[in-house]
Amino acid sequence: MAAQILKTPIEYLKGVGPQKAEVLKKELGIFTYGDLLQHYPFRYIDRTRFYKIKELNGELPAVQVIARVVSKEIIGVKRARRLIAQVKDDTGILELVWFQGISWVERHLKTGAAYNIFGKPSVFNSRLSISHPEMELYNLQDKKQGNPTLQPVYSSTEKLKQYFLDSKGIQRIQVGLLETILKEVPETLPHYVLQNHKLIARSEALVHIHFPNNPDSLNSAVKRLKFEELFFIQLKLLKNKLLRTQRYKGLVFGSVGEKFNSFYSEKLPFDLTGAQKRVIKEIRIDTQRPVQMNRLLQGDVGSGKTVVALMSMLLAIDNGYQACIMAPTEILARQHYHSITHLLDEDFVSVAILTGSTPRKDRKVIHEKLQTGQLKILIGTHALLEDIVQFDNLGLVVIDEQHRFGVEQRAKLWKKNNIPPHILVMTATPIPRTLAMTLYGDLDVSVINELPAGRKPLKTIHLYENQRLRMYGFMREEIAKGRQVYVVYPLIKESEKLDLLYLEAGIQNIADEFPLPEYRISIVHGKLSPKDKEFEMQRFVKGETQIMVATTVIEVGVNVPNASVMVIENSERFGLSQLHQLRGRVGRGAEQSFCVLMSGNKLSREGKIRLETMVRTLDGFEISEIDLQLRGPGNIEGTQQSGVLDLKLADLAQDQELLQKARNTVIQIFEDDPELIKEENALLRNYFEEKKDGITWNKIS
Ligand code: ADP
Ligand code: MG
Repeated sequence: MAAQILKTPIEYLKGVGPQKAEVLKKELGIFTYGDLLQHYPFRYIDRTRFYKIKELNGELPAVQVIARVVSKEIIGVKRARRLIAQVKDDTGILELVWFQGISWVERHLKTGAAYNIFGKPSVFNSRLSISHPEMELYNLQDKKQGNPTLQPVYSSTEKLKQYFLDSKGIQRIQVGLLETILKEVPETLPHYVLQNHKLIARSEALVHIHFPNNPDSLNSAVKRLKFEELFFIQLKLLKNKLLRTQRYKGLVFGSVGEKFNSFYSEKLPFDLTGAQKRVIKEIRIDTQRPVQMNRLLQGDVGSGKTVVALMSMLLAIDNGYQACIMAPTEILARQHYHSITHLLDEDFVSVAILTGSTPRKDRKVIHEKLQTGQLKILIGTHALLEDIVQFDNLGLVVIDEQHRFGVEQRAKLWKKNNIPPHILVMTATPIPRTLAMTLYGDLDVSVINELPAGRKPLKTIHLYENQRLRMYGFMREEIAKGRQVYVVYPLIKESEKLDLLYLEAGIQNIADEFPLPEYRISIVHGKLSPKDKEFEMQRFVKGETQIMVATTVIEVGVNVPNASVMVIENSERFGLSQLHQLRGRVGRGAEQSFCVLMSGNKLSREGKIRLETMVRTLDGFEISEIDLQLRGPGNIEGTQQSGVLDLKLADLAQDQELLQKARNTVIQIFEDDPELIKEENALLRNYFEEKKDGITWNKIS
């Protein structure tokens, strides 16, 4: 939307004026011509088809009928006063009813004349009628036969309707707008892009999205505008990436050295999976070039991201640099510390942990050793960001669990070295490809889509409420084998009271079914103080309790290898990604693990799909794709604050192919003409010149 005219304030449009403009701004956020132009219809009424009266029924949407008026009559008094007209075609009779504007209609409606009648049929007392139809005299000679188009329907509000801006009213000002500006609507896509993808011109698309002649013209309009939407998101993202690589030098990890190699051949207790090897190679290639790496590593819980992070850190150390891992919570930081120190001996590489609760005395030692370069790997929480934490030369930052950093925090991180360190962000929340391309399109993305071999795949079972006793029996069997069990309840804010009741009732049930002294239960929920929570958790971790009843607070938390059963109560109320995360809490030890999804006896269609999906697959990527299809991108974890999802037309669940095409097109353009200096790319160059903005930062890099 480049042209100046599109920025014209909406009140200057014919038929709008200051009052309506005010309401348009308030109600629909329409400030300018351009905003109105992008207030696309949300559906269309098919006026290409004519119905016969005998085809009508109460289920149809608004339809068109051609019929002749045979009678008209005003009946009733006061509020019951209405005008009824009977119309007839060669198949039957239909009643038209008006409750308002009766006199006017009565005066103008011509008995004996044929009309093109448009409205929603309904059936009352087995009589077919249409109230307040749109009427247009029908002219047999007129070849166009009424108004053979798809008629746009615009979203409006009660307030707007008071100002005559119902769907029809908006349609009217759209017509005015298109007449005013159409000749000046600029093309935004290069000619060759239009040609290659068989896209229609922008001005044409704008006419047809508001007033399509037929379904085909609507489709080409929508395709063109969706492509444009996706194309410019990609253009910005990839331009960002280009600028970043041009502006910031990167540290070169030139060689694979002694630590990396000896870890690989002597310390690594298992063979890497193919996916792990592939990702390590990707990181190796990234860090070899003098360009800062910004890589997102996605992999399900248990896919083995830690060892990938560790080997990347060894690569940094071999090249004379330090590395750090930052985790969102103290518990997770400790876990990393334990698993890493478990794999390395103290004299192999020096590792330390720094969190909010590190005693001052230890802190001081850590700070010193960091500055002298003695300490090679630092693991911690946000405490790492503090200014006092200074490295000798920080080469790689690993960020666990997809932190969202603001500009300030990022700056702090980057400034920990003269040349910004390489960044590896790890997340156990797989997101669909289209979403990744849109949210993290300026990062490189690696995927571990393979679990280490030899693990017993977790089994998932779905039981209905009336099978509850089976679930208790199963729990007893597993506990008898020495295993531990999680029982999780949903706790969703809006209905917290009810949920607490569920939780309390559930705890009571479990306590009755699993009585002392044979069984011991930990209970953890959000209302506990952190200290009590930790105490209860620790009892479970140490194996003092066999059952942990919890709300979703355990989603991100401790690793208890002996806990091999996850029972999820009211599972139909959890979203797919949440179910997947919860299930990921078990299946970490050597034993066969189970997830039991308990649900009410009646399920919604979506609830059913969710639970079936969970039973069918363990693949987080597949699950995330289905989640996207079911809920749309706005509801996928982590996307809510993201502006890039303010898509007007494109749909990341439906438009995968178009998105891939748009991205590939942009990639090719930048490969071929990174500075956009070629004449054929003039439009794109102008786009950036007008915007004049530099790098806009992705949330996580
Ligand atoms: P996550 O991706 O969830 O961070 P971890 O890195 O914690 O996963 O790995 C989960 C477990 O799998 C750890 O105990 C780790 O030692 C083990 N593991 C990782 N890679 C492999 C492998 N290639 N073969 C066997 N076990 C592995
Ligand atoms: Mg992990």
